[in-house]
Amino acid sequence: MFVDKASITLIAGKGGNGSISFHREKYVAAGGPDGGDGGKGGDVIFVADDNMSTLMDFRYKRKYVAANGIDGQGRMKTGKDGENLVIKVPRGTLVRDKETGAIIQDISGDEPYVIARGGKGGWGNKHFATPTRQVPRFAKPGLPGQRREVTLELKLLADVGLAGFPNVGKSTLLSVVSKAHPKIANYHFTTLYPNLGVVYAGEGVSFVMADIPGIIEGASEGAGLGHDFLRHIERCRLIIHVVDVSGSEGRDPIEDFEAINEELVRYNETLASRPQIVAANKCDIVEDPELLERFRSYVTEKGYELFEISAATHQGIKELVMAAAEKLSQLPPIQVFEPEYVEPEPKLSGTAEELTINVVDGVYMVEGEWLDRLLDSVNFGDSESRMYFDRALRNSGLFDRLEAMGINEGDTVSLYELEFEYKK
Ligand code: GDP
Ligand code: MG
Repeated sequence: MFVDKASITLIAGKGGNGSISFHREKYVAAGGPDGGDGGKGGDVIFVADDNMSTLMDFRYKRKYVAANGIDGQGRMKTGKDGENLVIKVPRGTLVRDKETGAIIQDISGDEPYVIARGGKGGWGNKHFATPTRQVPRFAKPGLPGQRREVTLELKLLADVGLAGFPNVGKSTLLSVVSKAHPKIANYHFTTLYPNLGVVYAGEGVSFVMADIPGIIEGASEGAGLGHDFLRHIERCRLIIHVVDVSGSEGRDPIEDFEAINEELVRYNETLASRPQIVAANKCDIVEDPELLERFRSYVTEKGYELFEISAATHQGIKELVMAAAEKLSQLPPIQVFEPEYVEPEPKLSGTAEELTINVVDGVYMVEGEWLDRLLDSVNFGDSESRMYFDRALRNSGLFDRLEAMGINEGDTVSLYELEFEYKK
């Protein structure tokens, strides 16, 4: 089965917890706090892999989880960061937000893309020692990793797409002009898979050619095989339209040529408007030379370049490849889709009820998702930013809740990495 769409869940690693520990040595009664920090959770990362040509693996495995950060330990030991989870996808995979369908990233370059970030590790108790609190009996928990639901959609990256009816010789042509893609070559049912090959057109000049399973009439309306596969030549810069001109199957090349072009228009106007070169194939067994001549005048009149070839005897192949390379050198690069997805604004405020408050050793430890994000966003060197922060805390009802819990003037309030003395 050829799979070119899949929905998966990605979960980055949780940060490790900070450690609560005190220095201990023989003959030393009580040392200071030495609890190390938790490690960061692993990220989930996509990279393009040229040896993959389907999203089949993602049909069977749907959930991808990166490793958690390790908890901190005594003797100031920081926990190890969780290992990143690197997921290989075929080059040309579009990652979309499952809910909205918006493109998050087009994985077509070589840059790895971080799709879900691991949570920060929590601070160990060594950070919380102050002159008045030498025995901090608390540390901070690690934060959860990002979780994402995405849809993967494969739109292969190829410079040249082969279009044409079944049996006109597309696969044969690809195998003749290219070293077939190693992994794909292993599939036996090549007609059910898009096939990619690298074509060398001379020193330092090469391009990627894609053969997709035959388009059949009505395919763009979903009548049969082909429609879905057109997606894979959507990005092509140039189409080589292969037509059987031998007349051996009683087909009319002009009709075939028009039928395929109509299919392309019906599927996608942009695709149909790509430059085309016509490969008149099976010239070695032409039965009626007039059929070929009629076809030649028909397409040249329409402004197409035509090459008489035989994929079987290699006649005209070199000229076709050179013409394609020349044409490509004048065309814009392969289309890369721009991200459309807009990260939802992080919620920077909320209510005190959404926070957890624990009292440890007289310290009021306050935690919660919006508070963590708020702290991340505040610039404490800027008075406006600080005022915004104060207001958000006040409006949340945090201070009322602390009062209700019996907080006294001068008690310590601890918000993640920030501590302050409570004042009425
Ligand atoms: P596709 O469906 O377009 O990929 O067509 P294939 O490449 O599978 O070819 C269909 C048939 O036509 C196969 O039997 C090929 O051997 C044959 N064929 C392809 N090109 C030529 C050619 O140039 N001359 C001759 N005589 N046969 C060819
Ligand atoms: Mg084929």
